[in-house]
Amino acid sequence: MKSIIIPLGGWAAGERTFRFHADSEFFQAFDNTEILNADVEVEVRVVKEGAKAEAELHLRGTVTVPCDRCLEPLQVPVEEDPSEEFSTELVKEDWDLSQAVYDYICLSLPMQRVHPEGECNPDTVRFLGQDGRGNEEAAPSSPFAALKGLFESK
Ligand SMILES: [Zn+2]
Repeated sequence: MKSIIIPLGGWAAGERTFRFHADSEFFQAFDNTEILNADVEVEVRVVKEGAKAEAELHLRGTVTVPCDRCLEPLQVPVEEDPSEEFSTELVKEDWDLSQAVYDYICLSLPMQRVHPEGECNPDTVRFLGQDGRGNEEAAPSSPFAALKGLFESK
């Protein structure tokens, strides 16, 4: 699914619900390389009345981004019901809501994207040196421990 397009032509005034699925391809179309994968159900409620159409978005699912600490994939839930109403006066044309959906999914992502405590990949964290606190786990293979072992064996 590359775009979220609502066909407004060909139906009378009233209310309709359209469903889409925003996947990784959808984000690739925006040149977004930060989102590794996505599985978001997009529900668009459209009300067409006279010379105007309004849409209401509901976004549910998950996106996968790299963890800030270990860079391994991290799944982030998406649950957005933007209060903003989108409207158009081009009621006989296709209405492209891709940008709005994209913006809202990106906005819903938390500022800090890290795995819950203890679920990061310890190898990558050690490699990146981003494990600020403790180091009990990493201690045996730290450079100092290795050096110590070297001296002791001589
Ligand atoms: Zn992590």
